[in-house]
Amino acid sequence: MFIAKTKENEQVSLIPPISPTFLEKYSPPFYCPVCQQEVILKTGNHRRWHFAHLPQKACPVSHKGESEMHREAKMILYQWLRQQKVRVEMEKYFPKIERQADLFLQWQSKNYVIEYQQSPLSPEEMLKRTTDYLSLQIEPIWMYGKNRLRPKRYAQFSIQPFEWIGLRERRDDQRHAFIYFSPQTASFSFLFPRTTVQRSTIFADYYTLPLSKATISHVVHLPKTIDAPLDWNQEWLLHKWSWRYQRIRWQPYPDITSVKQLLLEQKADLSLYPSEAGWPTLCSETFATPIYVWQTIFLLQFLQHVLLYDTFSFSSLLDTFLLLIDHYSIQTREFPFISQPLEKSLFAYLELLTRMNVLQKCKGGWRKLAPLILPRAVDDGFRMDKRWQHHIF
Ligand SMILES: [Zn+2]
Repeated sequence: MFIAKTKENEQVSLIPPISPTFLEKYSPPFYCPVCQQEVILKTGNHRRWHFAHLPQKACPVSHKGESEMHREAKMILYQWLRQQKVRVEMEKYFPKIERQADLFLQWQSKNYVIEYQQSPLSPEEMLKRTTDYLSLQIEPIWMYGKNRLRPKRYAQFSIQPFEWIGLRERRDDQRHAFIYFSPQTASFSFLFPRTTVQRSTIFADYYTLPLSKATISHVVHLPKTIDAPLDWNQEWLLHKWSWRYQRIRWQPYPDITSVKQLLLEQKADLSLYPSEAGWPTLCSETFATPIYVWQTIFLLQFLQHVLLYDTFSFSSLLDTFLLLIDHYSIQTREFPFISQPLEKSLFAYLELLTRMNVLQKCKGGWRKLAPLILPRAVDDGFRMDKRWQHHIF
């Protein structure tokens, strides 16, 4: 931490420039302005001066054992905001919710806190922190340490459950993105999910923006980007293949168990899921349930009940799908900063089915153009997948 107080209750700050006479002017003891316990002044030539709680006296509020990287990020971001003439306060404490924000700022008559998060958290704790700030009409902006950016195979990234809560929405086109910050390279990174694949894997577009070119608006509203063409043909088919052939992946999650039961009622099993399911769609991150599973439930328990050439409206679909979520234990995610995530994800899938000529857009909704035929054998299903693949990508 960079702010403490003296015995006389005077605030002392280690935000640069630190006066050359600091050590003559102030002498210990120093106290934590939040928990009032004594803190130690740590000085040196190779690291930023800061205050630290005694090891055996952890601060009940300062929730993170603050690493050097965390302090560095906080200070760099503070100075970056000050350069832009943004009103910003370091380590502001909010007694009502008993939380201390890394940075509190006011911009365009709105209140924000920037929270830099490197270490893992439980989703419950993350959501609690978020809603605490929101209850004070303060919007938290979650910035993850660059260490949290975990690339996997081609264009794929792994996301931990708590990280979803920080997902933000671009003002211009409602695309979603995570923000990362690296104090070492002084740059932001933005990860825009393209689609989910597995419970914790997404395909995503990744952009880096140096701090020197970034403004507060890029962080609050997200930068404009142009998607690179994603050559995911082969990669996607690998996932389709594994859903058909690797029964070992059917872990006993409640959503898997219930979709297995659903297919059993149709004298099929999960490897025979309809080949119109399991295709990439925007905003599919609404569901923690794998993409081929919720799309299968959509097809079998909604679309199959629509007569051929009949039409349906979006609101009737939404009403039914909300019941299906409950009934089939489809797992959804909470996004405090995203508007209408469920509507967006269903709409994207309808658009895809329209491109596949399964549906046709018509006045007031969609018309069903093709009957649904389940594959009779696994090889049969994978052949159908390959045919669709040429059509879709
Ligand atoms: Zn304290």
